[in-house]
Amino acid sequence: METAPVTEPSAARARLLIESLSRELPADRLVIDPDVLAAMSHDDAEWAPVGRAVAGVRARSEAEVSHVVRVCAEFGAPVVPRGAGTGLSGGANATDGCVVLDVSRMDQVLEVDRDNLVCVVQPGIVNNDLKAAVAEYGLWYPPDPASAPWSSIGGNVSTNAGGLCCLKYGVTRDYVLGLRVVASGAAVPGTEPAGLGAAGSGAPASGAGGYGTVTRLGRRTNKGVAGLDLTGLFVGSEGTLGVVTEITLRLRPALAGTPRTVVGAFGSLPDSGSAVSLITRRGLTPSVLELLDRACLAAVEEWKHLGLEADAAALLLARVDTAGESGAAEASAIAAAMTDAGALWVEQSTDDAEAEALFDARRLAYPALERLGPVLTEDICVPRSAVPQMLSLVSEIGARHGVQIATIAHAGDGNLHPLLVTPPGDDGARIAAQAAFEELLDAAIALGGTVTGEHGIGILKRDGMRRELDPGALAMQDAVRRALDPLGIFNPGKG
Ligand SMILES: Cc1cc2nc3c(=O)[nH]c(=O)nc-3n(C[C@H](O)[C@H](O)[C@H](O)COP(=O)(O)OP(=O)(O)OC[C@H]3O[C@@H](n4cnc5c(N)ncnc54)[C@H](O)[C@@H]3O)c2cc1C
Repeated sequence: METAPVTEPSAARARLLIESLSRELPADRLVIDPDVLAAMSHDDAEWAPVGRAVAGVRARSEAEVSHVVRVCAEFGAPVVPRGAGTGLSGGANATDGCVVLDVSRMDQVLEVDRDNLVCVVQPGIVNNDLKAAVAEYGLWYPPDPASAPWSSIGGNVSTNAGGLCCLKYGVTRDYVLGLRVVASGAAVPGTEPAGLGAAGSGAPASGAGGYGTVTRLGRRTNKGVAGLDLTGLFVGSEGTLGVVTEITLRLRPALAGTPRTVVGAFGSLPDSGSAVSLITRRGLTPSVLELLDRACLAAVEEWKHLGLEADAAALLLARVDTAGESGAAEASAIAAAMTDAGALWVEQSTDDAEAEALFDARRLAYPALERLGPVLTEDICVPRSAVPQMLSLVSEIGARHGVQIATIAHAGDGNLHPLLVTPPGDDGARIAAQAAFEELLDAAIALGGTVTGEHGIGILKRDGMRRELDPGALAMQDAVRRALDPLGIFNPGKG
């Protein structure tokens, strides 16, 4: 969505905005210290532009979120919602003149309804903390981004996060039944904003009346089709439609039994891709099918000394959680597909410790590579039959641009994360990496894929999204955003 450029606020306007914010907030909520504000003004994306925020607010309640949104609407100031800041596309990066609205301290589990397999949580709760909380009731929340130890459920909802076991159990969207959101006056008849008014000028913006309204979306029943799917619209909207303040989630019973792990080592990346295609074509559904290339394994081993062998070009890690004989048969069928696709060796195991070391390596790959220098993270997703071809293109594009690319992938979903690693402070390498990054997006689109499988558009994929989406779809998207946020203050310039 094109938004009006946000101008640097005058000092007087900034003072007035801060005064108005502080009027109804306890003093410890407001952040104006430049260093602290700078630290909360960006996510984990490399080289995504970061603007200068006027202030940050660490909200502790929905009422505080409402107040912040109301004041920002009056001033025409952008609101940039923030969870844990682990995003990889610049979605939580500050915009000039904005207020960064951090909801990570709204982190309570409000209800676990064991009878109906549902829980209600605040947005700031960390994914793994939610998993642990519902496990006490014998329940399971499946979506498991590799950032689960740090990322918030609000952030997961707003990016529609994927993860490792999404191959079998679905992504965040599949678990969100309902939301409470602080949004614009479009929610309340009679308070519809009148237009852009004085946005950015310092004077109260006309039509700011309904901003700050709390709206309940969705349901808590297992089924329900009353009205348009507005919950679905907010999932993955990256803070551009409002601020999520409460989430009702579907749960599953905890899994019983020990999962089986199948590991295959391959002499080339395309061979590992062929195994992914074959596993899909044979109708096999592991709960997890992840890929790690040699560069990732070496980086993790150098850092953590887990005893990993980094001799193969790529490892495929499959997990099967079907119990009993069927599980054993499924694991053997996956092993056979890996062998048929040319694996150097394949091993099956039910040894938890051994398997966990490999999955730890998968989770640690990104931070391990970050130790080597700035990492630009791709998130392309292609049809699973095109995984071998996409992996060849990754190597070819990296070589042509002289960029070191390490690849991890939620391979079973066709969701590849080529990680473009650059030496610190090398401008030439940065420019080459950015060119390779855009070319990889085009290659994925050409194969019938998408520029982002799970990290979101943020700032880094905006051009790529325009190249991917039908112009009619882009126009519809802009129309929806204008209708739900006529002042254009919710995370402008993102998504
Ligand atoms: C090591 C590592 C591994 C990762 N692995 C995965 C992975 O496997 N799968 C995956 O999908 N992602 C992964 N990510 C990316 C990231 O963790 C996810 O995008 C995650 O969902 C972001 O959550 P967060 O709480 O950090 O959100 P933030 O980064 O704070 O925000 C993300 C976006 O959501 C918006 N937002 C946050 N909270 C709210 C709210 N309450 N209301 C409205 N908007 C809001 C922000 O404005 C921003 O646009 C990984 C990141 C890292 C660093």
